[in-house]
Amino acid sequence: MRSNTELKRHNLLIGGECVEPGGREYSTILDPATEKPIAMVAQGTAEDVDRAVQVARAALKPWNAIRAAERGRILMRFSELLRTHQDELAELESLDAGKPIAGVQRQDVPAAIDTLAYYAGWCDKINGQVIPARPDALTYTVREPVGVVAAIVPWNFPLMIGMWKIAPALACGCTLIVKPAELTPLSALMIGQLALEAGVPPGVLNIVTGKGSIVGDALVTHPGIDKVTFTGSPSVGRGIMQGAAGNFKHVTLELGGKSANVIFADANLDKAARAAASGIFFNAGQVCSAGSRVLVQRAVYNDVVERLAARARSITIGNPSLHETKMGPLISSKQMKTVLNYIDIGKSEGASVVTGGRRSGESGYFVEPTVFADVEHEMRISQEEIFGPVASVIPFEDEADAARIANGTPFSLAAGVWSADIGRVHRMAAALRAGTVWINTYGYTDVRLPWGGSGDSGFGREHGDTAIETFTEPKSVWLSLAQ
Ligand code: NAD
Repeated sequence: MRSNTELKRHNLLIGGECVEPGGREYSTILDPATEKPIAMVAQGTAEDVDRAVQVARAALKPWNAIRAAERGRILMRFSELLRTHQDELAELESLDAGKPIAGVQRQDVPAAIDTLAYYAGWCDKINGQVIPARPDALTYTVREPVGVVAAIVPWNFPLMIGMWKIAPALACGCTLIVKPAELTPLSALMIGQLALEAGVPPGVLNIVTGKGSIVGDALVTHPGIDKVTFTGSPSVGRGIMQGAAGNFKHVTLELGGKSANVIFADANLDKAARAAASGIFFNAGQVCSAGSRVLVQRAVYNDVVERLAARARSITIGNPSLHETKMGPLISSKQMKTVLNYIDIGKSEGASVVTGGRRSGESGYFVEPTVFADVEHEMRISQEEIFGPVASVIPFEDEADAARIANGTPFSLAAGVWSADIGRVHRMAAALRAGTVWINTYGYTDVRLPWGGSGDSGFGREHGDTAIETFTEPKSVWLSLAQ
């Protein structure tokens, strides 16, 4: 094992420079698969945040002085640089977050590249409108950047979710301070360097690593921040709304989920069970839209439980850097304990473990893919977000019963419906309270489609033209034509 003094030290990125944190403190980043240290990362302070905010404010003017089409070219170069470094980025993300390399190469990195390319195309298409209000005036709108943005990112998809915030903000002419999750800061630091190399002016994209309670809180309460875009847990999201109220910051919150994957008896059960398994076991269940509740019509309940359990047993768990690995570790010892505790809660509530239910191995934070049967809607494992590889399979009778159960949690991020009946799937799509409904498929996201939820899943939408609206503000202009 390498001693901490041999590990690479990563500083903050402020104003295009790598700077030491004010308190000269660094935290050790662990590989969740081996529990061994992999890097030292700066612990930012409130003073570092203040410096980053001043730099980002000063960068607003020069960034917006660049013609929109040229800004688009810079973002396109940024996207191409990600492609050039895709292998390095994938390895870094896989190591830092314990994500299986094949999945990072197939999803996380391409999605980040695509997101940047998509918003590069938006730069010169952010139009206002001429709105005829009266004959003696020319009245029109322009869309202006909201200003300095704080982007607070979770650890489950650090690169992809980070880019969902960075790309539209840059396209709209905003400047940013990104605060990656304490546990997974490495890809954000690399992205910050690639942005500079692509020609994003110094100070436009700053990366301040460190604790949520220090760096995150300083950003949320800083009067020089105009907008907070946050993805993370509902409890932190609630605090962010309160903290942001001081100067009435714009706030977008993408929070948790307890999504229902609803399988009717007339569905293609093989496809549905396969998708239900990847819907909950992908990324070891650490996915906001994980299909953590599998609702199955009673006539096929036992059949689907068996199919799901068989798929769970066939998953290759282990070293994330190997191509054959399908499931890696959870992100931390704390997360592993939380998940194992929920498994105990499920058992004590009377649900039965069909497969899994234990830690896997003795080092690394691995938990077996777990399927619970005999789950009742009111149980905690059916109501609370576990954020691990634990499926709760719940029986239902008919459409109304399925909708009642699916909509019966405080969350409303996503849902899935499986049926061969075209009328039924559309009735269910209408009945389900969710920001995204997948029909006879599960789990896809695309930057062109709005993404987000309501209730404990947050509010506001990322992606598409919706993000352009949330990173800009319309200004109405009146020009008198009176003689
Ligand atoms: P978290 O809320 O603990 O942390 C998220 C980020 O907030 C981190 O960067 C953290 O440092 C920061 N933070 C923590 N305390 C803060 C504070 N007081 N002020 C400001 N920032 C603070 O969440 P997590 O554990 O990293 O991620 C898991 C959660 O994220 C789950 O609930 C999951 O459902 C949710 N999530 C949602 C989506 C979505 O799109 N809806 C996507 C991914 C994850």
